[in-house]
Amino acid sequence: MNHTSIPSELGDAIADADLPADAIASNRRLGTDLAATTNLTQINQMSLQAKVAGPSTRTVTITVDNGVLDWRCTCSRKLTKPCKHVVAVAQYVKRDRFSGS
Ligand SMILES: [Zn+2]
Repeated sequence: MNHTSIPSELGDAIADADLPADAIASNRRLGTDLAATTNLTQINQMSLQAKVAGPSTRTVTITVDNGVLDWRCTCSRKLTKPCKHVVAVAQYVKRDRFSGS
């Protein structure tokens, strides 16, 4: 099986958070492009991890705990807004949910 489906509760929480809307415009644009090079590497009921390929491959982790969404990326420890990699994963999740698998 190639396609690993994202649990709907997790997918909904990520979509509802609308992370791309919080990113700066350039990261929103770059991240949308990077969605095509995103691969999910780990999925649990309320968390996922994905690798985003680019000049360097980065790992994004998104977790939902008691309805609170948390995200991090290996490109920086001090992110205050979603980086392009986080945007990429959010867009990937959004596409995955509407692909009607
Ligand atoms: Zn990043």
